[in-house]
Amino acid sequence: MATESNREDYLTHLAQICSNCTRCELHRGRTRSVFSDGNPHARLMIVGEGPGQNEDEIGVPFVGKAGQLLTRMLNAVGFDRQQDTYIANVVKCRPPGNRTPTQAEMAACFPYLKRQIQAVQPLILVLTGATAVKGVLADPRPISRIRGEWILRQNIWCMATFHPSYLLRNESKEKGSPKWLAWQDFKEIRRKYEELTHLSSPTQ
Ligand code: SF4
Repeated sequence: MATESNREDYLTHLAQICSNCTRCELHRGRTRSVFSDGNPHARLMIVGEGPGQNEDEIGVPFVGKAGQLLTRMLNAVGFDRQQDTYIANVVKCRPPGNRTPTQAEMAACFPYLKRQIQAVQPLILVLTGATAVKGVLADPRPISRIRGEWILRQNIWCMATFHPSYLLRNESKEKGSPKWLAWQDFKEIRRKYEELTHLSSPTQ
């Protein structure tokens, strides 16, 4: 098994490769590639779609308004974003005009995300939005149908939920609304995290 520093060195190396990558057309419009944020040793990994304007400028995923909402939701269920999570996107370069990445772009970039998942070895993978679900699970179901459901893939518990940018466009918090449903998802993610980290703790 890789040592802790090996893991960080490997991911740093992968990030450098991404910053020079020309595997798809998205490299043409990027200011910088956006590889990850958070802790490579976290047990909870979050996957989004791709960088927006703020992320493209700063080089960190989920830093715009949607990212700030994600951080607040994580905090609300007791996670520290930097300490408890590792965050990455399906594509590392910004699609023009924030359009959805094409299937070809997602396929070109997926080897990076796959290696990130293999290196981090999370217990839980949270997939925010339909693109993350398609990119990682290859499940064609709409996000409204698949969200909230645990899917075990290669020994990792995967949960789809709404992308925070979708939640920003849907203000209602009434029962059954996207925000209310996402809140149920995050509470369930916390419950599962407690269950799995308890089981995997060497002191238990
Ligand atoms: S989106 Fe991914 S595959 Fe495309 S150029 Fe950027 S790093 Fe390479």
